[in-house]
Amino acid sequence: MPSEFELIDRYFSSAAAEAADVVLGLGDDCALVQPPATDELLANSTDTLVEGIHFLPDISAEDLAWRLVSASVSDLAAMGARPLWLSLAITLPDSNEAWLAAFSRGLKAALKTYSIRLIGGDTTSGSTRVLTAHVQGAVKPQQALKRSGAQVGDLVFVSGTLGDSRAGLELLTKAVEESVVAEFLTQRFLRPTARIELGLRLSPLASAAIDISDGLLADLSHILKSSGVGALVHLEQVPLSSSIKALYSREQSLAWAASGGEDFELCFTVPEYRQAEIESLAEELKLELTCIGEIRTGCELQVLFEGAPWAPSGAQGFDHFGQGESR
Ligand code: ADP
Ligand code: MG
Repeated sequence: MPSEFELIDRYFSSAAAEAADVVLGLGDDCALVQPPATDELLANSTDTLVEGIHFLPDISAEDLAWRLVSASVSDLAAMGARPLWLSLAITLPDSNEAWLAAFSRGLKAALKTYSIRLIGGDTTSGSTRVLTAHVQGAVKPQQALKRSGAQVGDLVFVSGTLGDSRAGLELLTKAVEESVVAEFLTQRFLRPTARIELGLRLSPLASAAIDISDGLLADLSHILKSSGVGALVHLEQVPLSSSIKALYSREQSLAWAASGGEDFELCFTVPEYRQAEIESLAEELKLELTCIGEIRTGCELQVLFEGAPWAPSGAQGFDHFGQGESR
Protein backbone atom coordinates (compact mmCIF):
# COMPACT_ATOMS: atom_id res chain seq x y z
CA MET A 1 0.00 0.00 0.00
CA PRO A 2 1.42 3.41 -0.94
CA SER A 3 2.34 5.79 1.85
CA GLU A 4 0.62 9.12 2.41
CA PHE A 5 3.62 10.84 0.85
CA GLU A 6 3.57 8.65 -2.25
CA LEU A 7 -0.12 9.43 -2.69
CA ILE A 8 0.51 13.17 -2.35
CA ASP A 9 3.30 12.93 -4.87
CA ARG A 10 1.33 10.89 -7.39
CA TYR A 11 -2.05 12.57 -7.24
CA PHE A 12 -1.65 16.07 -5.86
CA SER A 13 1.84 17.31 -6.80
CA SER A 14 1.00 16.33 -10.37
CA ALA A 15 -2.07 18.58 -10.31
CA ALA A 16 -0.06 21.62 -9.21
CA ALA A 17 1.04 23.69 -12.20
CA GLU A 18 4.10 25.90 -11.97
CA ALA A 19 3.41 29.61 -11.60
CA ALA A 20 5.60 32.66 -11.15
CA ASP A 21 3.81 33.74 -7.98
CA VAL A 22 4.23 30.31 -6.31
CA VAL A 23 7.79 30.56 -5.05
CA LEU A 24 7.58 27.21 -3.20
CA GLY A 25 4.69 24.84 -3.85
CA LEU A 26 3.79 21.42 -2.45
CA GLY A 27 6.40 19.47 -0.50
CA ASP A 28 7.64 21.71 2.27
CA ASP A 29 6.17 22.74 5.62
CA CYS A 30 4.46 25.75 4.05
CA ALA A 31 3.88 27.05 0.55
CA LEU A 32 5.54 30.37 -0.19
CA VAL A 33 3.64 32.70 -2.48
CA GLN A 34 4.25 36.17 -3.83
CA PRO A 35 1.46 38.50 -2.63
CA PRO A 36 -0.41 40.38 -5.39
CA ALA A 37 0.01 44.08 -6.11
CA THR A 38 0.08 46.27 -2.99
CA ASP A 39 -3.18 47.99 -3.99
CA GLU A 40 -5.03 44.66 -3.88
CA LEU A 41 -6.49 42.70 -0.98
CA LEU A 42 -6.37 38.92 -0.61
CA ALA A 43 -9.88 37.44 -0.72
CA ASN A 44 -10.08 34.20 1.33
CA SER A 45 -12.76 31.54 1.47
CA THR A 46 -13.09 27.94 2.71
CA ASP A 47 -15.63 25.33 1.64
CA THR A 48 -16.19 21.77 2.80
CA LEU A 49 -18.00 18.92 1.06
CA VAL A 50 -19.09 16.02 3.29
CA GLU A 51 -20.14 12.69 1.77
CA GLY A 52 -23.86 12.07 2.24
CA ILE A 53 -24.54 15.77 2.93
CA HIS A 54 -23.08 17.59 -0.07
CA PHE A 55 -22.49 14.73 -2.47
CA LEU A 56 -23.92 11.31 -3.15
CA PRO A 57 -21.59 8.40 -2.29
CA ASP A 58 -21.56 7.21 -5.91
CA ILE A 59 -20.51 10.52 -7.50
CA SER A 60 -17.53 10.07 -9.82
CA ALA A 61 -14.20 11.26 -8.45
CA GLU A 62 -13.77 13.63 -11.41
CA ASP A 63 -17.15 15.24 -10.85
CA LEU A 64 -16.44 15.55 -7.14
CA ALA A 65 -13.16 17.37 -7.78
CA TRP A 66 -14.93 19.68 -10.21
CA ARG A 67 -17.73 20.47 -7.76
CA LEU A 68 -15.30 21.17 -4.94
CA VAL A 69 -13.18 23.57 -6.96
CA SER A 70 -16.19 25.27 -8.58
CA ALA A 71 -18.05 25.74 -5.29
CA SER A 72 -14.95 27.26 -3.68
CA VAL A 73 -14.00 29.45 -6.61
CA SER A 74 -17.63 30.63 -6.82
CA ASP A 75 -17.08 32.56 -3.58
CA LEU A 76 -14.21 34.42 -5.25
CA ALA A 77 -16.50 35.18 -8.19
CA ALA A 78 -19.13 36.57 -5.82
CA MET A 79 -16.48 38.86 -4.30
CA GLY A 80 -15.27 40.06 -7.70
CA ALA A 81 -11.86 38.52 -7.00
CA ARG A 82 -9.32 37.04 -9.41
CA PRO A 83 -8.44 33.44 -8.43
CA LEU A 84 -4.89 32.86 -7.21
CA TRP A 85 -4.29 29.84 -4.96
CA LEU A 86 -6.09 26.80 -3.59
CA SER A 87 -5.23 24.49 -0.67
CA LEU A 88 -6.93 21.12 -0.42
CA ALA A 89 -7.58 19.06 2.71
CA ILE A 90 -8.89 15.59 1.92
CA THR A 91 -10.05 12.79 4.24
CA LEU A 92 -10.61 9.38 2.67
CA PRO A 93 -11.60 5.98 4.09
CA ASP A 94 -9.01 4.19 1.93
CA SER A 95 -6.28 4.82 -0.62
CA ASN A 96 -8.16 3.60 -3.71
CA GLU A 97 -5.67 4.59 -6.40
CA ALA A 98 -8.10 4.38 -9.33
CA TRP A 99 -10.35 6.80 -7.43
CA LEU A 100 -7.44 9.09 -6.60
CA ALA A 101 -6.20 9.08 -10.21
CA ALA A 102 -9.65 10.13 -11.44
CA PHE A 103 -9.92 12.75 -8.68
CA SER A 104 -6.52 14.11 -9.66
CA ARG A 105 -7.61 14.35 -13.33
CA GLY A 106 -10.78 16.25 -12.39
CA LEU A 107 -8.81 18.48 -10.03
CA LYS A 108 -6.26 19.35 -12.67
CA ALA A 109 -8.95 20.20 -15.24
CA ALA A 110 -10.89 22.39 -12.81
CA LEU A 111 -7.76 24.21 -11.59
CA LYS A 112 -6.85 24.96 -15.21
CA THR A 113 -10.36 26.16 -16.08
CA TYR A 114 -10.32 28.75 -13.30
CA SER A 115 -6.59 29.56 -13.53
CA ILE A 116 -6.13 28.81 -9.83
CA ARG A 117 -3.00 27.07 -8.53
CA LEU A 118 -2.89 24.21 -6.02
CA ILE A 119 -0.29 25.22 -3.43
CA GLY A 120 -0.74 22.66 -0.64
CA GLY A 121 -3.11 20.76 1.57
CA ASP A 122 -3.45 17.81 3.88
CA THR A 123 -4.22 14.13 3.27
CA THR A 124 -5.75 12.07 6.06
CA SER A 125 -7.76 8.90 6.54
CA GLY A 126 -11.17 8.80 8.21
CA SER A 127 -14.45 6.93 8.02
CA THR A 128 -16.29 9.50 5.83
CA ARG A 129 -15.01 11.28 2.76
CA VAL A 130 -14.59 14.98 3.55
CA LEU A 131 -13.01 17.54 1.24
CA THR A 132 -12.11 21.09 2.18
CA ALA A 133 -10.77 23.70 -0.20
CA HIS A 134 -9.36 27.02 0.90
CA VAL A 135 -9.10 29.55 -1.91
CA GLN A 136 -7.41 32.90 -2.16
CA GLY A 137 -7.91 35.59 -4.75
CA ALA A 138 -7.04 39.23 -5.37
CA VAL A 139 -9.38 42.20 -5.46
CA LYS A 140 -9.03 45.98 -5.26
CA PRO A 141 -10.54 47.21 -1.95
CA GLN A 142 -13.05 49.56 -3.57
CA GLN A 143 -14.10 46.88 -6.07
CA ALA A 144 -14.83 44.03 -3.65
CA LEU A 145 -18.44 42.91 -4.18
CA LYS A 146 -19.58 42.87 -0.57
CA ARG A 147 -23.03 41.78 0.53
CA SER A 148 -23.53 45.04 2.37
CA GLY A 149 -23.66 47.57 -0.49
CA ALA A 150 -27.25 47.28 -1.76
CA GLN A 151 -29.11 50.62 -1.84
CA VAL A 152 -32.83 51.38 -1.96
CA GLY A 153 -33.84 51.69 -5.64
CA ASP A 154 -31.13 49.29 -6.92
CA LEU A 155 -32.23 46.54 -9.29
CA VAL A 156 -31.79 42.87 -8.36
CA PHE A 157 -30.27 40.65 -11.06
CA VAL A 158 -29.38 36.98 -11.40
CA SER A 159 -27.07 35.32 -13.92
CA GLY A 160 -27.87 32.24 -16.00
CA THR A 161 -30.88 30.07 -15.19
CA LEU A 162 -31.90 28.87 -11.74
CA GLY A 163 -33.22 25.57 -10.37
CA ASP A 164 -31.26 23.41 -12.83
CA SER A 165 -28.90 21.99 -10.23
CA ARG A 166 -31.74 20.94 -7.91
CA ALA A 167 -33.56 19.37 -10.86
CA GLY A 168 -30.32 17.58 -11.81
CA LEU A 169 -30.03 16.16 -8.30
CA GLU A 170 -33.62 14.95 -8.53
CA LEU A 171 -32.86 13.19 -11.81
CA LEU A 172 -29.77 11.51 -10.34
CA THR A 173 -31.75 10.03 -7.47
CA LYS A 174 -34.48 8.68 -9.77
CA ALA A 175 -34.18 6.16 -12.57
CA VAL A 176 -35.10 8.37 -15.52
CA GLU A 177 -34.65 7.77 -19.20
CA GLU A 178 -31.56 9.38 -20.68
CA SER A 179 -32.22 12.47 -22.74
CA VAL A 180 -30.46 15.65 -23.81
CA VAL A 181 -32.48 17.76 -21.37
CA ALA A 182 -31.86 15.35 -18.46
CA GLU A 183 -28.15 15.36 -19.28
CA PHE A 184 -28.09 19.18 -19.27
CA LEU A 185 -29.66 19.29 -15.81
CA THR A 186 -27.48 16.58 -14.24
CA GLN A 187 -24.40 18.31 -15.66
CA ARG A 188 -25.53 21.58 -14.06
CA PHE A 189 -25.53 19.72 -10.73
CA LEU A 190 -22.33 17.72 -11.24
CA ARG A 191 -20.29 20.29 -13.17
CA PRO A 192 -21.41 23.76 -12.07
CA THR A 193 -19.57 26.76 -13.49
CA ALA A 194 -18.28 29.45 -11.16
CA ARG A 195 -18.96 32.85 -12.74
CA ILE A 196 -15.46 34.26 -12.36
CA GLU A 197 -15.46 36.43 -15.49
CA LEU A 198 -18.86 37.87 -14.56
CA GLY A 199 -17.70 38.68 -11.01
CA LEU A 200 -14.62 40.48 -12.32
CA ARG A 201 -16.69 42.51 -14.78
CA LEU A 202 -19.34 43.34 -12.17
CA SER A 203 -16.86 44.53 -9.58
CA PRO A 204 -16.92 48.18 -10.76
CA LEU A 205 -20.68 48.08 -11.54
CA ALA A 206 -22.59 46.17 -8.86
CA SER A 207 -23.40 47.48 -5.38
CA ALA A 208 -23.61 44.00 -3.78
CA ALA A 209 -23.32 40.36 -4.83
CA ILE A 210 -23.59 36.79 -3.55
CA ASP A 211 -23.29 33.40 -5.22
CA ILE A 212 -26.38 31.22 -5.16
CA SER A 213 -25.32 28.23 -3.12
CA ASP A 214 -28.18 27.90 -0.61
CA GLY A 215 -31.05 29.09 -2.84
CA LEU A 216 -31.97 32.42 -4.44
CA LEU A 217 -34.27 33.64 -1.67
CA ALA A 218 -31.99 32.51 1.15
CA ASP A 219 -28.95 34.07 -0.49
CA LEU A 220 -30.70 37.31 -1.46
CA SER A 221 -31.84 37.54 2.18
CA HIS A 222 -28.16 37.63 3.19
CA ILE A 223 -27.64 40.69 0.97
CA LEU A 224 -30.73 42.35 2.47
CA LYS A 225 -29.66 41.68 6.04
CA SER A 226 -26.09 42.89 5.47
CA SER A 227 -27.29 45.99 3.61
CA GLY A 228 -30.17 46.82 5.97
CA VAL A 229 -32.74 46.93 3.16
CA GLY A 230 -35.74 44.99 1.82
CA ALA A 231 -36.57 43.75 -1.69
CA LEU A 232 -39.43 42.93 -3.99
CA VAL A 233 -38.91 39.92 -6.27
CA HIS A 234 -41.18 38.99 -9.18
CA LEU A 235 -40.88 35.22 -9.26
CA GLU A 236 -42.23 34.87 -12.79
CA GLN A 237 -39.19 36.84 -14.01
CA VAL A 238 -36.72 34.31 -12.57
CA PRO A 239 -35.02 32.71 -15.59
CA LEU A 240 -35.66 29.00 -16.21
CA SER A 241 -33.79 26.81 -18.69
CA SER A 242 -35.67 25.16 -21.54
CA SER A 243 -34.50 21.81 -20.08
CA ILE A 244 -36.12 22.31 -16.67
CA LYS A 245 -39.30 23.53 -18.38
CA ALA A 246 -39.35 20.45 -20.61
CA LEU A 247 -39.23 18.05 -17.66
CA TYR A 248 -41.00 19.80 -14.80
CA SER A 249 -44.06 21.95 -14.19
CA ARG A 250 -43.62 25.71 -14.04
CA GLU A 251 -44.60 25.66 -10.37
CA GLN A 252 -42.02 22.99 -9.50
CA SER A 253 -39.32 24.68 -11.58
CA LEU A 254 -39.90 28.07 -9.95
CA ALA A 255 -39.93 26.52 -6.48
CA TRP A 256 -36.51 24.97 -7.19
CA ALA A 257 -35.30 28.20 -8.80
CA ALA A 258 -36.31 30.09 -5.64
CA SER A 259 -34.99 27.68 -3.03
CA GLY A 260 -33.03 24.86 -4.70
CA GLY A 261 -29.52 26.20 -4.38
CA GLU A 262 -26.14 25.07 -5.75
CA ASP A 263 -26.64 26.74 -9.13
CA PHE A 264 -23.54 28.83 -8.36
CA GLU A 265 -24.97 31.69 -10.40
CA LEU A 266 -24.55 35.23 -9.06
CA CYS A 267 -27.30 37.35 -7.53
CA PHE A 268 -26.31 41.02 -7.55
CA THR A 269 -27.71 44.50 -7.16
CA VAL A 270 -26.94 47.48 -9.39
CA PRO A 271 -28.02 51.13 -9.40
CA GLU A 272 -30.86 51.59 -11.91
CA TYR A 273 -28.85 53.94 -14.15
CA ARG A 274 -26.44 51.09 -14.86
CA GLN A 275 -29.09 48.79 -16.35
CA ALA A 276 -27.90 49.36 -19.95
CA GLU A 277 -24.32 48.46 -18.95
CA ILE A 278 -25.57 45.17 -17.49
CA GLU A 279 -27.47 44.45 -20.70
CA SER A 280 -24.40 44.99 -22.86
CA LEU A 281 -22.30 42.91 -20.45
CA ALA A 282 -24.80 40.05 -20.85
CA GLU A 283 -24.41 40.25 -24.62
CA GLU A 284 -20.65 40.38 -24.41
CA LEU A 285 -20.36 37.42 -22.03
CA LYS A 286 -23.15 35.53 -23.81
CA LEU A 287 -24.72 34.95 -20.42
CA GLU A 288 -28.28 35.76 -19.40
CA LEU A 289 -28.40 38.54 -16.79
CA THR A 290 -32.01 38.99 -15.72
CA CYS A 291 -33.61 41.68 -13.58
CA ILE A 292 -35.92 39.93 -11.10
CA GLY A 293 -36.82 42.74 -8.73
CA GLU A 294 -35.69 45.80 -6.82
CA ILE A 295 -34.31 46.89 -3.49
CA ARG A 296 -36.77 48.64 -1.18
CA THR A 297 -36.83 50.26 2.22
CA GLY A 298 -37.49 48.10 5.29
CA CYS A 299 -36.04 44.67 5.82
CA GLU A 300 -38.57 42.36 4.21
CA LEU A 301 -38.15 40.14 1.18
CA GLN A 302 -41.47 40.28 -0.62
CA VAL A 303 -41.98 37.65 -3.32
CA LEU A 304 -44.79 38.07 -5.83
CA PHE A 305 -45.90 35.56 -8.43
CA GLU A 306 -47.92 37.25 -11.18
CA GLY A 307 -48.86 40.03 -8.80
CA ALA A 308 -49.96 37.91 -5.83
CA PRO A 309 -47.85 37.04 -2.76
CA TRP A 310 -46.02 33.77 -3.34
CA ALA A 311 -46.18 31.26 -0.51
CA PRO A 312 -43.38 28.74 -0.86
CA SER A 313 -44.49 25.24 0.11
CA GLY A 314 -40.97 24.09 1.07
CA ALA A 315 -38.10 25.51 3.06
CA GLN A 316 -36.31 28.71 1.99
CA GLY A 317 -32.89 27.25 1.29
CA PHE A 318 -30.48 24.97 2.96
CA ASP A 319 -29.33 25.37 6.54
CA HIS A 320 -27.16 22.63 8.05
CA PHE A 321 -28.51 23.16 11.53
CA GLY A 322 -32.00 24.33 10.61
CA GLN A 323 -35.14 22.69 9.31
CA GLY A 324 -34.16 22.99 5.62
CA GLU A 325 -34.42 20.08 3.28
CA SER A 326 -31.44 17.82 3.63
CA ARG A 327 -28.91 17.36 0.83
P1 ADP B 1 3.03 18.52 7.19
O1 ADP B 1 3.29 17.28 7.95
O2 ADP B 1 4.10 19.55 7.26
O3 ADP B 1 1.64 19.07 7.43
P2 ADP B 1 2.23 16.93 5.02
O4 ADP B 1 3.00 15.69 5.11
O5 ADP B 1 0.83 16.94 5.51
O6 ADP B 1 3.06 18.10 5.65
O7 ADP B 1 2.19 17.37 3.49
C1 ADP B 1 3.35 17.37 2.71
C2 ADP B 1 3.20 18.38 1.60
O8 ADP B 1 2.17 17.98 0.72
C3 ADP B 1 2.81 19.77 2.11
O9 ADP B 1 3.48 20.72 1.31
C4 ADP B 1 1.32 19.82 1.90
O10 ADP B 1 0.91 21.14 1.67
C5 ADP B 1 1.16 18.95 0.65
N1 ADP B 1 -0.14 18.24 0.62
C6 ADP B 1 -0.58 17.28 1.45
N2 ADP B 1 -1.79 16.84 1.10
C7 ADP B 1 -2.16 17.57 0.02
C8 ADP B 1 -3.33 17.61 -0.81
N3 ADP B 1 -4.37 16.81 -0.59
N4 ADP B 1 -3.34 18.50 -1.80
C9 ADP B 1 -2.30 19.32 -2.02
N5 ADP B 1 -1.20 19.33 -1.30
C10 ADP B 1 -1.10 18.46 -0.29
MG1 MG C 1 -0.17 17.76 7.14
